[in-house]
Amino acid sequence: MNNLPKEFKFSKKLGQNFLIDKTIPKRIVQESGTDGKNILEIGPGAGALTVELASSASSVLALEVDPLLIAPLKEMFATCPNVQIEHTDALKCDIAALCDDYFGSDADVVVRANLPYAITSPILIKLIESRRFSDVTVMVQLEVAERIAAKAGSPEYGAFSIFCQYYTEPKLLFKVPPTAFYPRPKVTSAVIKMTSKIPEFSENEKELFRLVKLAFAQRRKTLVNALSSRYDKERVLNALQKLNFTPDIRGERLSVADFASLAAELNKSA
Ligand code: SAM
Repeated sequence: MNNLPKEFKFSKKLGQNFLIDKTIPKRIVQESGTDGKNILEIGPGAGALTVELASSASSVLALEVDPLLIAPLKEMFATCPNVQIEHTDALKCDIAALCDDYFGSDADVVVRANLPYAITSPILIKLIESRRFSDVTVMVQLEVAERIAAKAGSPEYGAFSIFCQYYTEPKLLFKVPPTAFYPRPKVTSAVIKMTSKIPEFSENEKELFRLVKLAFAQRRKTLVNALSSRYDKERVLNALQKLNFTPDIRGERLSVADFASLAAELNKSA
């Protein structure tokens, strides 16, 4: 990290916890698979992960929001023709258009990143909703990784798990202790790989996400009560019976496929 300018100060707001354990970027590269790939990196920081990505990938486009990091990053990768550093805010830019311009509109692109804690969810939602990436492998807080991969009925399971599992197949790769970073965060991190899939239940997609939102807004309530502001109780009870669910079931017990079946059933009776 000796390439940082004197005036640089680690920003909590920008989630600047940089990797200092050199084994972690290597593990991310090995376990996620980066050979010959086109890679979008969010937040290269001091370049710890970028260096490893550059050594195996076909090309790397790295988006960094902190202006103080741009010159050192450009200098660091001046002799790497397969690395492009862009000064931009990943939350605000048109990420798919940037990738189309840089890699080509038909090119397969994957994401690799050690994400800033504060913007993990909005960034992930943006990346996944863009449908531009065949996989998104990111380091996040362990708690978030567990929520993404949570199964129905577990305490971690919620609307965000369903969103991620609707569009991707998540797999927790490995955990990373606070000692791997400078400055040291208070929490444990984890690397999670989300492989994109074609959503199976797109016919009733809107209804499915409407149900999920209502069900988890009041997750302690039975599904019938949680949905009562929008759906007639009898209608929901009939749909649950048809799907062989008990009348007092809570939304947190329903898988993505179960929510899709319920959405289809309620659409039928509308
Ligand atoms: N990749 C480096 C590493 O692993 O050591 C740094 C990771 S650090 C957790 C997150 C990085 O994301 C920081 O460099 C931060 O400046 C950058 N960042 C924060 N918000 C961003 C945004 N909206 N767009 C692009 N980069 C951002």
